[in-house]
Amino acid sequence: MATVRLSTLKKVFGTNAPAVDVDELKIENGEFLTLLGPSGCGKSTLLRMLAGLETPTSGRIMFDERIVNELDPAERNIAMVFQNYALYPHMTVAENVGYPLKKRGVPKDERTARIAEIAALLKIDMLLDRKPRQLSGGQQQRVALGRAMIRNPAVYLFDEPLSNLDAALRSYMRNELIRLHAKLRGTMVFVTHDQVEAMTMSTRIAVMEAGCIQQLATPDEIYERPATKFVAGFVGTPAMNFIEAEVVPDGATARIKAGDFTLDVTQPDGMTAPLQGPLTLGIRPEHILLGQGTDKAEITVVESLGNEQIITIDTGRRELVLRSTSGEKHRIGEHVTYALRPDRLHFFAADTGRRIG
Ligand code: ATP
Repeated sequence: MATVRLSTLKKVFGTNAPAVDVDELKIENGEFLTLLGPSGCGKSTLLRMLAGLETPTSGRIMFDERIVNELDPAERNIAMVFQNYALYPHMTVAENVGYPLKKRGVPKDERTARIAEIAALLKIDMLLDRKPRQLSGGQQQRVALGRAMIRNPAVYLFDEPLSNLDAALRSYMRNELIRLHAKLRGTMVFVTHDQVEAMTMSTRIAVMEAGCIQQLATPDEIYERPATKFVAGFVGTPAMNFIEAEVVPDGATARIKAGDFTLDVTQPDGMTAPLQGPLTLGIRPEHILLGQGTDKAEITVVESLGNEQIITIDTGRRELVLRSTSGEKHRIGEHVTYALRPDRLHFFAADTGRRIG
């Protein structure tokens, strides 16, 4: 297993803005690091540079103490798992899994033993004689994983490997990958635009936008203390509500004025300057409390999910989305009161979008 280190890594295609522009990123040995971001943010290009499939415009990639910029993919001791599995259709499962060893001239007996070991681990031992077309999507993905694992690579690179699977299989494979990582303790870099995959599997997540890493932190930190408005809006379903507000400081208190409501909150700890001026207030749907407070609204949309309702309310000035788990069945057109939990507010600078406090 290896530690991966990137410094001042840049990839520019033609005259476009950089597709990747990362100052510093250290992926720890045995870490499951996810590159998360919307389409076009540069996550695949970053992964492809790690794999050696794309040449950096400038900067350095190191595996442990070794600079790998100039090495071919085959010399990097990496294994890559793709979205489309890329299995050889004419080979059996056993031949597909064993192929990397065959290419290296590993003797047949040793190969067979190792294939059996990997197949048992991935629960594909009863499929070894089948061809890829005789397998389900999830089974094919496990074969692709097996082929990646057989060489004990220093780094695993995953490029949206679950996006072709249906919802149930995706959830199953997420679970399998979590178990596999716990067992193998491999250094894994996983690219996805799916925040559920990122949140459930990762040791840390690097949230990317326009080629840059906006925040690198554990899933909990990303959710609870998003560094920017972009990260806050990208992670969490339904998305965080944003409200443009004006803050007037008054000693240890800050009075937040947003047109339809006024809210007094304690100045957050550890701030260098008091909260004041125009800013963007963020609040997650689960932190808006229905039936509390005195602010009034009307329910405009109700989505029932069995154990909870996702409710849109119209305050007369804006719409807010909230999550109700009370069990009470709300209806469109209902008049309600609501309150924002003051201890769960996020503040972002109105101009830069950076977190305050
Ligand atoms: P997706 O989730 O859609 O795959 P991504 O975050 O992986 O997106 P990249 O594929 O890394 O994004 O692309 C980043 C940017 O670089 C995009 O603007 C893309 O159009 C551009 N790009 C990627 N590959 C090339 C290429 N070979 N030539 C020119 N531009 C490219």
